[in-house]
Amino acid sequence: MASNLVSLCSNQASAFDWDYKDARFDLSASAILGDRAAFESWRNEPLNYIKEQFEGAINVAPEVVGVHDPIKKAGFAIEQIDLLFSHVAQDGADLRYTVAVARPDKPNPDLPTIVAINGHGEVGGEGSGQAPTTLFDDDGHGAYLARGGFTVVAFPNTIHAPFADLSRRVDYSIIWARLADLALTRIKPLLNSNPDYIGLGNAAGGLTSLMLAIVRPDIKAMAANGAFFSLEHTRREYRIFTHPFCHDFRAFFSYSALYALLAPKPLLIEEGRRDGLWLGYGASHPESWFSGTKRGAISDETIGAYLELKQIWVKFGSLIELDIHDKGHEDVDTSAFVGFVQRVRAAPP
Ligand SMILES: [Zn+2]
Repeated sequence: MASNLVSLCSNQASAFDWDYKDARFDLSASAILGDRAAFESWRNEPLNYIKEQFEGAINVAPEVVGVHDPIKKAGFAIEQIDLLFSHVAQDGADLRYTVAVARPDKPNPDLPTIVAINGHGEVGGEGSGQAPTTLFDDDGHGAYLARGGFTVVAFPNTIHAPFADLSRRVDYSIIWARLADLALTRIKPLLNSNPDYIGLGNAAGGLTSLMLAIVRPDIKAMAANGAFFSLEHTRREYRIFTHPFCHDFRAFFSYSALYALLAPKPLLIEEGRRDGLWLGYGASHPESWFSGTKRGAISDETIGAYLELKQIWVKFGSLIELDIHDKGHEDVDTSAFVGFVQRVRAAPP
């Protein structure tokens, strides 16, 4: 985990104090083991719940208030688009929100457009709507993809303080996905790229991307890196002191029940062996920003959750893959992602 997250603040939430009174969605035995109709019957209620939260979170279309001159990089250029969401934030404040579009020097118009969303490490813990940049560093996954001919549209994420009140009734990942959704709809005519999208979410951005890909028909598939761990493990074992519930979905018992809502869209799950939330990592020491964990994830929580999802994707005959790489929490396995995109493009619609 990134160690440079925001420092400890005074109102530390005590870890391991989760209240389950609002949790009601869990994958049922028939949703996993039954036929496709049984899964689709299970899906209605949680999917409607997510859509209601999503649409009810924010209902203000943003305005484009500025388009910056391109920033030249090796093999591509970045265009930043400034958007303004009026009166959506705390106490009626506006939110400035900047999207970064990487345009390849040699674009391949046959390739889908990549919608990329990063996690807390992008902004040192706390976002304010500023454009993401680290994925476009020379060794970043966004730079790798742009040099390969992909247009990459990157959205801000992990914006906590301006939505502290809203987060009491809407989970943060849904708020951040709704901002990206409204922004994407607004800038889509400006992108001049393939209108089929594939989501690529990293860490907390994986959960935001999941919400976006569940709700938007133009996102045809998605990959998440560092975002497939156990919700129960984080509730019992893991706290970022200044935003202890920002990974949470309060109506759900597990992330697998949320990932299931993406079916049958193709899904790639990437996890690094050196990710503290992945299988085999073990306990972590507490730090100033972080509770530490008494144990690592266990196989029921990780491999078991993947096999549940695989059982669901099989009902549709669609693509689901697990890539376990050798890197850390926020290190995207770019070659696995490109291979996944090729298999998505080769698959029958
Ligand atoms: Zn957070």
